[in-house]
Amino acid sequence: MTNAKPAVIVHGGAGPIRDDSLRERLEGCKAAALAAWDILAQNGSALDAAEAAVMVLEDNPLFNAGTGSTLNQIGNVEMDAAIMDGDLLRVGAVAALQRIKNPIKLARRVMEDGRHVILGSEGALMFAREIGFPECSPESLIVEHERKRWAEKHGTVGCVVLDANGKIAVATSTGGIFNKLPGRIGDSPLPGCGTYADDRGGVSCTGLGEAIIRVVLGKTAIDFLAEGIDPNAAARKSLELLEAKTGAQAGLIMIDCHGRIGYARNTTHMPVCFIKDNQSIALDS
Ligand code: ASP
Repeated sequence: MTNAKPAVIVHGGAGPIRDDSLRERLEGCKAAALAAWDILAQNGSALDAAEAAVMVLEDNPLFNAGTGSTLNQIGNVEMDAAIMDGDLLRVGAVAALQRIKNPIKLARRVMEDGRHVILGSEGALMFAREIGFPECSPESLIVEHERKRWAEKHGTVGCVVLDANGKIAVATSTGGIFNKLPGRIGDSPLPGCGTYADDRGGVSCTGLGEAIIRVVLGKTAIDFLAEGIDPNAAARKSLELLEAKTGAQAGLIMIDCHGRIGYARNTTHMPVCFIKDNQSIALDS
């Protein structure tokens, strides 16, 4: 057992925030980071902490994940989520998922089950039924302001954690991009793209999935750590690469195996909250 200094970082999605919800979004990120921190304080695992943080954000209708997810072209919610254990490279993901209140929890069950890495749409629901996982009505995931707005909504939520045993975990969950075609799968459930962790660090991305997938943004950012740069520099460098190659907008959060935190965005906003060993809570947007 190593004696690492735990660290947590949470994001609430990259993109413009045009309404006056920034303060509330930051508070939401803080509540999620504290949920993760509480688990770490009780000597809980990075995986449990990352999952708990993302569940808090999935249940907060302000964020584009779980309840409050954006709508696709035919007015339905279809969600993606992934969780990854950087220690053993275990990963579980669900894609184009309907009828599940907390997709990250089902992703965790896919990982624990171990037969597969990603389960999509009907197959993911069949798996949920097989393991007795509760379902919700599709309508309960649609919040009124989303129905009204049925307009551009961006964002994703994510959390990266280093626990006291030196283990890193990442969880990411999203409703995807507004007006997407039914069946569209973004970067979030794809290991190495929107979600990635190994023994060097962990990363959760947000932004245009189609671009993030093309540059394998998550793994690219972690590979930059091997050049000896810190996570802030690695996050910036990978984002510069994404911008140069695709012109897209995105953001990412990272923690390396030393507990150093990094994040970057090329959008106007990306609410983040991080907590480090001295328990100082920092917010940024
Ligand atoms: N990356 C997400 C997706 O493309 C959306 C976002 O983060 O805004 O599904």
